[in-house]
Amino acid sequence: TVITRFAPSPTGFLHIGGARTALFNWLYAKHTGGKMLLRIEDTDRQRSTPEATAAIIDGLKWLELDWEGEPISQFARADRHREVAEELVRRGKAYYCYATPEELEQMREEARAAGKPPRYDGRWRDRDPSEAPAGVKPAIRIKAPLDGETVVHDLVQGDVRFPNKDLDDFIILRSDGTPTYMHAVVVDDHDMGVTHVIRGDDHLTNAARQTIIYEAMGWDVPVWAHVPLIHGSDGAKLSKRHGALGVDAYRAMGYLPSALRNYLVRLGWSHGDDEVMTTEQMIEWFDVKDINRSAARFDFQKLEALNGIHMRQMDDRELTKVFLDTLPYIEGGNAFLAKLNDTRREQLVQAMPGLKERAKTLVELLDGAQFLFADRPLTLDEKAAALLDDEARKMLGELLVELEAIAEWSAESTEAVVRDFAERTGRKLGKVAQPLRAALCGRTTSPGIFDVLAVLGREESLARIRDQEM
Ligand code: GLU
Repeated sequence: TVITRFAPSPTGFLHIGGARTALFNWLYAKHTGGKMLLRIEDTDRQRSTPEATAAIIDGLKWLELDWEGEPISQFARADRHREVAEELVRRGKAYYCYATPEELEQMREEARAAGKPPRYDGRWRDRDPSEAPAGVKPAIRIKAPLDGETVVHDLVQGDVRFPNKDLDDFIILRSDGTPTYMHAVVVDDHDMGVTHVIRGDDHLTNAARQTIIYEAMGWDVPVWAHVPLIHGSDGAKLSKRHGALGVDAYRAMGYLPSALRNYLVRLGWSHGDDEVMTTEQMIEWFDVKDINRSAARFDFQKLEALNGIHMRQMDDRELTKVFLDTLPYIEGGNAFLAKLNDTRREQLVQAMPGLKERAKTLVELLDGAQFLFADRPLTLDEKAAALLDDEARKMLGELLVELEAIAEWSAESTEAVVRDFAERTGRKLGKVAQPLRAALCGRTTSPGIFDVLAVLGREESLARIRDQEM
């Protein structure tokens, strides 16, 4: 079975690129009936924080990307990393290096002077440890092959060849006994039974070095898939301005998890011309080998449009639930929640068809829904106030009488009365509907006015009109 993993470093939030990596791993596991594991790469004790781990887990949960079992801490496996490094020494595939910091600095200097990348010269590769200077704690370095090439067979990039003369004897265990990232990843992926490594293509060179460790241990090399990074809309490296934010920021901007998943999967992968997909379709269609080789560009407008489509496609009760669950993260959302009770929750469901037509995000949905539970008398916005001049207020007074006479309050019955009133008094429907909207909503945009009347109900509607009529 396929085993994938998501292996974030807990040094910040779950950013959008990481979320896409997690999504690809999750989709591929689901697609193949395999599993995705979660490994927290917390070996860097200076930069890793429990808050960042919590934020990453929170982000994954919000995106509904689940993993198998408990998250695995890389740091907790340090003994095992050391054990494998020492095993490699015993097998003659790695060696103790006693080079001092000064010697290493000198090698770097010389490389710089020659305009070459820094490179360890292998001075302890074949030296007998009995020559070790007293008091120097050794690091362990891998004995990398000196000639030939290391080939990374990559499902996205194809076969990528690295001449071995460019890959030096890199450190796998530091002199303080801690593993390097390069080594820890290999040992963990092997022990976790990972079959497919799907990650950003900034790790492609690492894959060559990691292959050397796998081969030195005689372990199976996983299938690699290095995914091109996400760029900004202008093609430049993704920055905050372009959308390089944590997924929590996307939640606060009112995007649905389903829409963000849909948007992210399309960043670097496609299925024909299909833009809008359900998660089930994504699972069915996703395959690593269809990932594009060129960098994808992040486009807020597309995300927003897609989000609007997902909102409109969603069942009203389900959308109401997601909306309410998201409100604590949206500015002003808690104030709205504070006004909620069971009746109002139901009102919100009833209003949803009209509200979601006019919103591309949950933030806009909140804005559109504010009128529902607004306190009377309503505060009118500028346009609504301008609309409700004396003439309009008198008109509302006449209309009020007719609305009060309705026996069965509904969108249909109120529509019939309003239309009849407009016709009889020689007004265009808009001349009646717009002031009515201003009185009921305090603004000049809202869902269809008859839906508003129905959702607010008889008493609240009439009361709001009474507040404005003369
Ligand atoms: N921890 C690494 C990162 O966050 C990922 C390592 C990997 O996927 O192999 O970039």
